[in-house]
Amino acid sequence: MYIVLLGPPGSGKGTQAGLLSKEFKIGHMSTGDILRDILKDKTHPLYEDVKVINQGMLISDELVTKVVRDSLSNPKFKQGVIFDGYPRTSAQAKALDKILSEEGKKLDFVLDLNVTEEVLLYRLLGRRVCPSCKKVFHVRQGITTCPDCGLELVQRADDNKETINKRFTEYKNKSLSLKEYYKNTTPYIELKIDQKDISAEEVERLIHIRLGEMQKDKAEG
Ligand code: AMP
Repeated sequence: MYIVLLGPPGSGKGTQAGLLSKEFKIGHMSTGDILRDILKDKTHPLYEDVKVINQGMLISDELVTKVVRDSLSNPKFKQGVIFDGYPRTSAQAKALDKILSEEGKKLDFVLDLNVTEEVLLYRLLGRRVCPSCKKVFHVRQGITTCPDCGLELVQRADDNKETINKRFTEYKNKSLSLKEYYKNTTPYIELKIDQKDISAEEVERLIHIRLGEMQKDKAEG
């Protein structure tokens, strides 16, 4: 099964991707995590090209597609993938369709987490992440160390107001044509989220309702 998860930074893509990957027994591929891992190694051949992500800029379509193509050979993606953070442009979407079709595969559906800007700022400025397992928390939970790894939670370098605003603008500009592309080519589920404190479990429940509706529509032809 191949799923693309769309949504601005802070929309809960990572959390929902983790849940869906467990449920469907497919790999969760976060390009943001892969790129941040590259930045941990200054001798990595892509280090200099990837560095721009700390200023909130997107890396080129060609470069990120190369990173995705290389990562797909990892055995954890053998049964399928939930793509989180990729594609971000319609050129990347077309490149992904090509990569999958070369393997005789295609996307099953696109899930768009359409979260309002106000909700996003609240979430991102308070977001804290485990540096090891990447699990995400919020300062309102009052947790400072990861319950699983015991490591101190950290704030991502790009979770500051200036960078967040840049990322919003990039996302809005670039995702318009991407959404248009997918709405015309792939089964598309859009979930509108405007409640600040909606839980991940509630979002998961709403996703399941929509998935059930999609399957019913498909069965009815
Ligand atoms: P994320 O964790 O998905 O918010 O990604 C963090 C940063 O990595 C983004 O702000 C971009 O700079 C970069 N990045 C991740 N995925 C992509 C992509 N598909 N295309 C271009 N840049 C990306």
